[in-house]
Amino acid sequence: MHNHNLQLLVHKAKIAELTPEIKQDGVSLMKVHRTSNPNYLFIDLEIEENAVAGSFNIDFYKDGKVQWSYKYVLLERTKDADKREGFNNSDIIYLLMPDRFANGDRGNDNMPGMLEKADRNNPDGRHGGDIKGIADHLDYLEQLGVTAIWINPLLENNMPAYSYHGYAITDFYKVDPRFGSNQDYVDLVAKAKSKNIKIIMDMVFNHCGINHWWMKDLPTADWVHQFDKFTRSNYRGEALMDPHASANDKMIMSDGWFDSGMPDLNQKEPLLASYLIQNSIWWIEYAGLSGIRMDTYPYADQDFMNRWISSLYEEYPEFNIVGEAWLQTVPHTAYFQSTTFPNDKKSSKLGSVTDFPLCYAANNALNHKDSWTEGLTGIYMTLSEDFVYSNADSNLIFLDNHDINRFATNIHADWDKWKMGMTFLLTTRGIPMIYYGGELMMEGDKSKGDADLRHDFPGGWKGDVTDAFKGVNMTEKQGKALEFTKKLLKYRNDNPILQTGKLTHFIPQNDTYVYFRHDSTTAYMMVMCKSDKPVSLDLSRFSEILDSFSSMKSFKESTFDSKPEQILVSPMSATIYQFK
Ligand code: CA
Repeated sequence: MHNHNLQLLVHKAKIAELTPEIKQDGVSLMKVHRTSNPNYLFIDLEIEENAVAGSFNIDFYKDGKVQWSYKYVLLERTKDADKREGFNNSDIIYLLMPDRFANGDRGNDNMPGMLEKADRNNPDGRHGGDIKGIADHLDYLEQLGVTAIWINPLLENNMPAYSYHGYAITDFYKVDPRFGSNQDYVDLVAKAKSKNIKIIMDMVFNHCGINHWWMKDLPTADWVHQFDKFTRSNYRGEALMDPHASANDKMIMSDGWFDSGMPDLNQKEPLLASYLIQNSIWWIEYAGLSGIRMDTYPYADQDFMNRWISSLYEEYPEFNIVGEAWLQTVPHTAYFQSTTFPNDKKSSKLGSVTDFPLCYAANNALNHKDSWTEGLTGIYMTLSEDFVYSNADSNLIFLDNHDINRFATNIHADWDKWKMGMTFLLTTRGIPMIYYGGELMMEGDKSKGDADLRHDFPGGWKGDVTDAFKGVNMTEKQGKALEFTKKLLKYRNDNPILQTGKLTHFIPQNDTYVYFRHDSTTAYMMVMCKSDKPVSLDLSRFSEILDSFSSMKSFKESTFDSKPEQILVSPMSATIYQFK
């Protein structure tokens, strides 16, 4: 590895009374840390260039005698692991919740030692979905046209209830056995890679599950933030950069617990910081990841997060990380993107942020009448604020996710509005992400509880009446939506200028928003029309772009024709035109 230092955490009764020794060429024991808890030792190793893969003993001595020995295994590096490519705006990401996608192995639904048993009748319970369910349906995802999968956390969540979502991790090194094994995960990444699909791991460093093994015997008193009585985060990410913020508000935001079952990890504790950094590097290397989605990014210590990112990029320069920054406005979101506000002393190193402001604007645009500030103008105004971001092209963009209303619900399952939203998502700037079932116009209303956003994917369970994977018993709308999504994704994948071309947009007029993705060879014109009557669009208004091109075809046509002076746009439509 680029970094030759490795820190081991050893947890065993009274281990601090012993002294470790290592006799292995290329491996040096540099330092031993003892904490206030005698059941822990932290051992700093240096792995030199001449170290060879294999196992060696760590011998623990007392009174000149070996009291205990541990066999440590040093693995060979994966070839070219440091050249691993991350995800970017040439990708289309599919977000899925593993418990709710497909149950490939009913044998792991209930596992010995795991507190919560499967109960598909409980909306907040575990339904049995797993890694095999994902692996079995990679063909479906490949044919859909996605090139990357962000899987909600797969690590062990051994909690008594309500942990199917995966965000209460109880072991950072172990896949939850109800999802499969660590090896199953490695195999999934390899199988996905063979289909040119990248895997993005969902990580959580702000908190762990209260049943994490170390909560029963904390390595140091300050491993987690502790208060006299339970103190919940105020969830006000805005306090972090607010020049008028109260110091106490800031502290509660960062150090308060995310929930009563989710203790807040103290990343300022250097031993925990090393643990978390090494954990990420281990997963990237071991599983062959192409990216990380970091949960609750603003809630963790920002100096630590920057150090974490730098450490990962030192090992994997082409890697990418998206941070979940669930904030309402563009500047609050942009604060977490690298080099956006370089004068801020906590200036971020994060490459990608979740673009909630654009998600809200796109959803609102289709339900509000156009005006000086509302409707399609809301999209125009939100994108006009891109000057605040250092790199809006790397923003993760979406119409919905596992925490908010499904897009189809927001637009009352209106077919025309749905097509307009999907077309916008796949043609504007950023890295588009589709939430599983979005391709079927799946609905979900947060006011009915989070479970309503996370229904089982139809066909993922044996005996499902509808099987969307095989196209069996689908409603007409599901079938149409799936076909449209496939065509749209194929079109984006086949036309790189739609992924990376410059975005130029024009002020909305007549309930119509026109924008281009273009370079010197090709221009794509997208026309979103919310009028209830056909609109005649005079192309001379766009001559600054179109003067370079002489022929045009629409998304539906196969051949170019000479460029017209006007086009007639259908009511409630989004159309893509290509110019050469
Ligand atoms: Ca299962």
